Amino acid sequence: MKIAIIGAGISGLMSALELVEQGCSVIVFDQKSAGKAASWAGGGILSPMYPWRYDPAVNLLARHGKSLYIEWNQKLKPVSGIDFEIQETGMMIFDEADFEQGLNYAQKFQEPMQECHYLHQKQIKQINPLISTQFQHALYFPQIANIRNPRLLQSITRYLKQHPQVELIENCCIHQLNKVNGKIQSVTDQNYQHYFADHFVISTGAWSQMWSAQLDIEIPIRPIQGQMVLFKTPQNWLPSMCMNKVMYLIPRADGHVVCGSSMSNCGFDITPDARTQQSILDACFEMVPELTKYPIVKQWAGLRPSSPHGVPYIGKIPNTNNLWANFGHFRNGLCMGPASARLLRQLILNQPTLVDPALYSAERLNTDLLAMP
Ligand SMILES: Cc1cc2nc3c(=O)[nH]c(=O)nc-3n(C[C@H](O)[C@H](O)[C@H](O)COP(=O)(O)OP(=O)(O)OC[C@H]3O[C@@H](n4cnc5c(N)ncnc54)[C@H](O)[C@@H]3O)c2cc1C
Repeated sequence: MKIAIIGAGISGLMSALELVEQGCSVIVFDQKSAGKAASWAGGGILSPMYPWRYDPAVNLLARHGKSLYIEWNQKLKPVSGIDFEIQETGMMIFDEADFEQGLNYAQKFQEPMQECHYLHQKQIKQINPLISTQFQHALYFPQIANIRNPRLLQSITRYLKQHPQVELIENCCIHQLNKVNGKIQSVTDQNYQHYFADHFVISTGAWSQMWSAQLDIEIPIRPIQGQMVLFKTPQNWLPSMCMNKVMYLIPRADGHVVCGSSMSNCGFDITPDARTQQSILDACFEMVPELTKYPIVKQWAGLRPSSPHGVPYIGKIPNTNNLWANFGHFRNGLCMGPASARLLRQLILNQPTLVDPALYSAERLNTDLLAMP
């Protein structure tokens, strides 16, 4: 069986991995380079921030993120030569208004990843001595991990490129879905070249709304820009991730610290701006004042594929027999990525599913209204 996948972010690349491992042939297209859009720009936190603020359907997929990445890292590393570093640094949250809900959430759902402790200042200092003394209390989630997402994408891309059943075509923008009697027969790129397959997957992230006109269905996905700032500190300098007012710091083992992130509705613009950068810096320096001593080495912005309630569309697209959706992961596409792709593969191949597929059904495209955050 041959599957064509449009879009090589985490959603498309993970879908390709799942499908080739089941013996399918896969062709993946990206309008630019593989793995360089939102999935590269993200922070790699393997949990929704404040999971209790999200639809349960988001948490249901995200809960599988860490364990599936551990498995994939073991499988891909010997071939790709890249370790994408699943670091269990834990996460401290200082938003006091969320403390009760966070503790109740942990108590109610008992998800190992959302194990949660209430900390006093002395305990905060023991775990992370760099936290400002103005924070007297915190919630601590010791199991929450992060991955180096640019390395993850590189590792998957290398693995797929050497695989005999995979063709990865970059700088190839798919413009047209060619449908005959409800079935997509082929897709056409910017050079009018046609590509045929048995099934087709749309995993075009923030660009997914572009298919609305051809499919005669409103696809309520919009780009929401998020900016990031990268610092370089000494190795293993910051012991834990920390978050306050939806701004966070993510330490990498080599001393890089990723700080983010903003939310801006400005179309497809990915130019970082000084005002947004300052708001990120203010929030991060408030949590970790000593960070001011270290240099900023990079800044960037990416486009999150926002969807109503942040619940992705995974499943067959209405009025088609062989066109599948895997898009709309908004703020949580990296942590939902492996389970989303597994669910998609199970649906395409008619296998038992790891979660209830109705929660993500693309039939929702018939009823969901455009909901901008
Ligand atoms: C600043 C920031 C921080 C984030 N932090 C986190 C985090 O810590 N944890 C987390 O889980 N998530 C995080 N996210 C969200 C996460 O990055 C996204 O949800 C996820 O990357 C979406 O993946 P995707 O594959 O759907 O989209 P993308 O990675 O954007 O990939 C879509 C691809 O489709 C291609 N494409 C589009 N149209 C076409 C076409 N017509 N033909 C061919 N190719 C096409 C694009 O070029 C692109 O490569 C963050 C996002 C941002 C921006």
